[in-house]
Amino acid sequence: MRRNHEDCIALLEQIRWSGKPKCPYCESKNATAYKNERRYHCNFCFTSYSVTVGTLFHKTHVNLEKWFFAIHLVLNSPESISVRQLAKEVGVNKNTAAYMIERIRKALVEEAELLRRLIEADEY
Ligand SMILES: [Zn+2]
Repeated sequence: MRRNHEDCIALLEQIRWSGKPKCPYCESKNATAYKNERRYHCNFCFTSYSVTVGTLFHKTHVNLEKWFFAIHLVLNSPESISVRQLAKEVGVNKNTAAYMIERIRKALVEEAELLRRLIEADEY
């Protein structure tokens, strides 16, 4: 099953927050949801955030469904997947694919728990 971007955000929110927003800057759970987008305003430190802040997905222009698919490919390839192959499978250019592989490998160390739970929840 391929998820759309909204589904991916919802899944990530479930994994990181158990569905209840938590500010990545001050950890307050006192948040107000913005209308029509999955962003939140922190009522304690007055910043706004989405669930991707502080993860490997932060500040990238790649859709989450492509990220999730790339994680699946990188983690489940018996031989390590090549940049060219990832680019082709996910549908991004080679520079982006190289960047994604690098971030996923880094996240395997720094965000191992998040990746493990993403893969667990995955139904590819
Ligand atoms: Zn805050």
